[in-house]
Amino acid sequence: MFDKILIANRGEIALRVIRACREMGIKSVAVHSTADADAMHVRMADESVCIGPAAGTDSYLCMPAIISACEITGAQAIHPGYGFLSENARFVQIVEDHDITFIGPTAEHIRVMGDKITAKDTMKDLGVPCVPGSDGGVPTLEDAKRIGDEIGYPVIIKATAGGGGRGMKVAKSADEMEQAFMTARAEGKAAFGNDEVYIEKYLTTPRHIEIQVFGDGKGKAVHLGERDCSLQRRHQKVFEEAPGPCITEEERARIGKICADAVAKINYIGAGTIEFLYENGEFYFIEMNTRLQVEHPVTEGIFGVDLVREQIRVASGLPLSFEQDDLEINGHAIEVRINAERLPNFAPCPGKVTAYHAPGGLGVRMDSALYNGYSIPPYYDSLIGKLIVHGRDRAEALARLERALSELIVDGVETTVPLFNQLLAEDDIHSGAYNIHWLEKWLEKTYGA
Ligand code: ADP
Repeated sequence: MFDKILIANRGEIALRVIRACREMGIKSVAVHSTADADAMHVRMADESVCIGPAAGTDSYLCMPAIISACEITGAQAIHPGYGFLSENARFVQIVEDHDITFIGPTAEHIRVMGDKITAKDTMKDLGVPCVPGSDGGVPTLEDAKRIGDEIGYPVIIKATAGGGGRGMKVAKSADEMEQAFMTARAEGKAAFGNDEVYIEKYLTTPRHIEIQVFGDGKGKAVHLGERDCSLQRRHQKVFEEAPGPCITEEERARIGKICADAVAKINYIGAGTIEFLYENGEFYFIEMNTRLQVEHPVTEGIFGVDLVREQIRVASGLPLSFEQDDLEINGHAIEVRINAERLPNFAPCPGKVTAYHAPGGLGVRMDSALYNGYSIPPYYDSLIGKLIVHGRDRAEALARLERALSELIVDGVETTVPLFNQLLAEDDIHSGAYNIHWLEKWLEKTYGA
């Protein structure tokens, strides 16, 4: 087992990893930008190293600074969290070239899954069901039009290097193809330096269901059921739950096994998420994330396992600490993402937190790096906390969420808390009758935004 781990991240996820390290008796090293000198992850870690100025590209994304911080502190492994360098194959290669362990999958697996076209090809070969669409990249507008006619409109044009909801455009009919094709390509080029695109059938009323998998890197893998992340704004998740309100035990066992078998076959190591759209009882693969997800706590809630501890264990060469048959679902868990944003436009709202009080009590978990007097810097993601609740069933989890939200105090900045209070008044949220378009429509109806 490692003696010391460096966490190449900030905010609540850095705290999450530090907590796992402490429980395992492992020393933690925080890295931070000059803007984060007073951040909670710096205070909570055993050691810290300043790795550069405020801009992410000069600090949390600066590979030489992070490798140097490892060498100075003697950290033997790097946990990347999510975002930043967590899915950067080149970084993983460099880390390994320095005899440091990357807590995550291999550079090769990250590379394959990081490109949506190769990911889809690989998954198809491994027996995972995919959205019908083009076989690989679509080089010209003429090809795009031909494929659109073949699979039938509406279609979605996606940048193969896309992520975070960027580089995707829908064409409802052949007339819209030129515009959608050109825009998706331009976005892919501008945001990811790659203008290759592919085409998929656009599903009109799917839910977003993702399967958590875990591999030991030696041909063994398990699944930890699904999360339903259908409540999205601009393709970004805002509310996640497990188990999925519409998934049956049989469906879970079937798709879970397909996913676990697929990653076992490629000797996948560590945590991974295989994302699907789910419509009319069918699952359609869209992408795989080769890292810990923001919403991993809902899975931890219902299975009672520590996924970060498990990541660290398998990265150090230990076997998985659970078998498929050990994993049993207990109750229901929900996470809401609390952002420092002003409604109704969700404009970032950084600033000084004049008062902070976290909710507590049975079944309540608040993962946040906030504290009284903390100044949220304007340079990074606006996520300031995740409120996760667990109940014996979905109704209890929803009641607990409402109660916990009423206890939460974040003064000084605007947050997305009022959004969740309003959502909890909606019948569809209580019945679970929502798909990936529900929230956008509700926002339009409620705010005209
Ligand atoms: P990203 O990498 O940017 O997160 P994904 O491929 O995971 O992109 O898709 C993000 C979201 O976009 C999905 O959760 C879903 O809401 C929507 N989406 C993606 N593909 C399709 C599709 N074929 N049909 C309908 N919606 C889609």
